[in-house]
Amino acid sequence: MIAVDIEKKLKAYNGLQILQVKKEFEPGSVTRITGPSGAGKTTFIKMVAGLIAPDKGSITANETWFDSNQKINLTPQQRRIGFVFQDYALFPNMTVKQHLEYATNDAQWIARLLNIGQLDTFTNHKPGHLSGGQQQRLAILRALAIKPQLLLMDEPFSALDVKMKVKLITDLQILFKEVGATVLIVSHNPQELDGVSSDELVMGEI
Ligand code: ADP
Repeated sequence: MIAVDIEKKLKAYNGLQILQVKKEFEPGSVTRITGPSGAGKTTFIKMVAGLIAPDKGSITANETWFDSNQKINLTPQQRRIGFVFQDYALFPNMTVKQHLEYATNDAQWIARLLNIGQLDTFTNHKPGHLSGGQQQRLAILRALAIKPQLLLMDEPFSALDVKMKVKLITDLQILFKEVGATVLIVSHNPQELDGVSSDELVMGEI
């Protein structure tokens, strides 16, 4: 269980807004985070990841990740988090395979990930020589490579065509179960996770 109860002042163009989230995420569950642009979806998952600190509150998994009273704030590495950024954040000089080897030395797991992401024939390509959809799949595979207890994804399927998306989501669900990952997915597309049993966190309009 990951329990979040946090508050953060957002510096929006139209003034300060308070982002407040109190929610529990069951182990192994998938939650879709929705809400209008500017609602704080990206900021929220970055706070859960440990990339941005909340102003107050607590985030607890198997241990305390963040507690403003006790001044605890674990790093993303300490939280064992996989994160898929909206802009992928790939390394321009690393090949597909090197991205995954950087995260894990389990060759069998890497081979499986490459197969599921349909990147097995692109292992020696660098991001610059991949399509947008391939780059996005690589970002997802890299995040999964460390077998994270929590996987945070920011619009992870936006560059994929519908057919690829449906197949990938089906395959990823098997991996999520295997890894035992709790998954939070920011998505503005209401149909995106059709067929996936998922919880929903709606972020308010600001
Ligand atoms: P969404 O992902 O829902 O579109 P964002 O989380 O990207 O929303 O942004 C929500 C608001 O939070 C924006 O107005 C942005 O300026 C503000 N914001 C982003 N990062 C921070 C931060 N580290 N501290 C305070 N405000 C932030």
